[in-house]
Amino acid sequence: MPINREFSARARVVAEGLEARQLDGLLLTLGPNLTYLSGFTGSNGALLVTPRRRLLFTDPRYTLQAGQETDCEVRTARKALLTEVASAIRRLKLKRLAYEPARMTCEAMHEFEAALPLGTVLVPVTEWIERQRMVKSPTEIDAIRRSVRVNSEAYEQVMTMVKPGMSERDIAAELEYRMRRLGAEKPSFETIVASGKRTALPHAQPTSARLKPRDMLLVDMGAFLDGYASDMTRTAFVGTPTRKAEAVYAAVLEAQLTAIEAVRPGLEAYKVDQAARRVLREFDLDDLFTHSTGHGLGLEIHEPPRLGRRDRTLLEVGMAITIEPGVYHEDFGGIRIEDTVLVTATGCEVLTPTSKELRVLG
Ligand code: ZN
Ligand code: ZN
Repeated sequence: MPINREFSARARVVAEGLEARQLDGLLLTLGPNLTYLSGFTGSNGALLVTPRRRLLFTDPRYTLQAGQETDCEVRTARKALLTEVASAIRRLKLKRLAYEPARMTCEAMHEFEAALPLGTVLVPVTEWIERQRMVKSPTEIDAIRRSVRVNSEAYEQVMTMVKPGMSERDIAAELEYRMRRLGAEKPSFETIVASGKRTALPHAQPTSARLKPRDMLLVDMGAFLDGYASDMTRTAFVGTPTRKAEAVYAAVLEAQLTAIEAVRPGLEAYKVDQAARRVLREFDLDDLFTHSTGHGLGLEIHEPPRLGRRDRTLLEVGMAITIEPGVYHEDFGGIRIEDTVLVTATGCEVLTPTSKELRVLG
């Protein structure tokens, strides 16, 4: 389906939602939901969705770009965007309007309310479009596949050159450089490179610390390609790992494979988390698994569903999620293994091609 037709198909689903909720319109401020329904990627925009129309407001810097990216009616604002939106609401006689408090500042909200015609009813909505975004279209899945491939290829290229003496920052710079050379727009989050005991920090930022013999090396990286994210973690070893490290690696891998095995449509998200946790409990490592098993990804690196202890979202065909159990201890370090997977009719497809066999570098 041509991408523009996809935007209008998404908007039709929203229009049905407006009707069901007895709303006249939905206001989206800048962010992934706005991009999802319009295609617009500029840095200043607001989108007004009514049952029949989509009005995209932006400023003169983006008029041309908006014309190229979206099939919405583009309104170039001379004043503050939300003041222009309020004028349109008056003209279109919209009475009940939904908005997203999570994506608006208090300041913008006050400004907007002051400009609205008297009697407009504002209805806060949370995770409406995010829920719609959970199931990906074939075009989106294709972008995620390509993003995953580029990400893994960048990792592969850099791992062949990693050796003791390289700093975490050097490695992160190489990974991001390769990723872009291979076609990514940018990393989908700040690349995590941690060596030695710093691997115990699940979200370590790369430092000037240099890789030493017998260190562990944890890399968590993702790319944005055509706007879509990938996400992968691998933990490798410089020289032969200790017996203990080898045993923990095997346990984390078993937890990851068991969680992947559990994924199927109709299953509640938290059950995937349970599957990973149960394996780590057998090894008495579950207390050291301090985050959730995974998350959805797409236009954002973290999207619903959350594969944590409580999310009862039913998995559906076409959801793209990560599976990433990990074990962290300040004396020992940390080991995490993460793949991007796609929920399919029969279970799931692991999109990440990178090997999960214990890898010894240099
Ligand atoms: Zn990750
Ligand atoms: Zn992740």
